[in-house]
Amino acid sequence: MASPSKKIRAKLAKRDGGWFCCWCKQKVREDVPASCKSKATIEHVIPRSEGGVSAMSNYALACLGCNSSRAHAQRRAA
Ligand SMILES: [Zn+2]
Repeated sequence: MASPSKKIRAKLAKRDGGWFCCWCKQKVREDVPASCKSKATIEHVIPRSEGGVSAMSNYALACLGCNSSRAHAQRRAA
């Protein structure tokens, strides 16, 4: 059975016209290990710490590399 987040990623890819990172525009992939930088992840466009909601309208696909570097930037800013 597909996990909920995997379904969401598939919906985002359909909505946004392909499997691309919303930040670096590189291709993201489902079929790679979770540690791979091109791994598809769900990004909160407005971070939850800034009032962003957990809904499709606030989600975008991001590669693991961008997602994790953004998370670091937010921690520094906080
Ligand atoms: Zn990226």
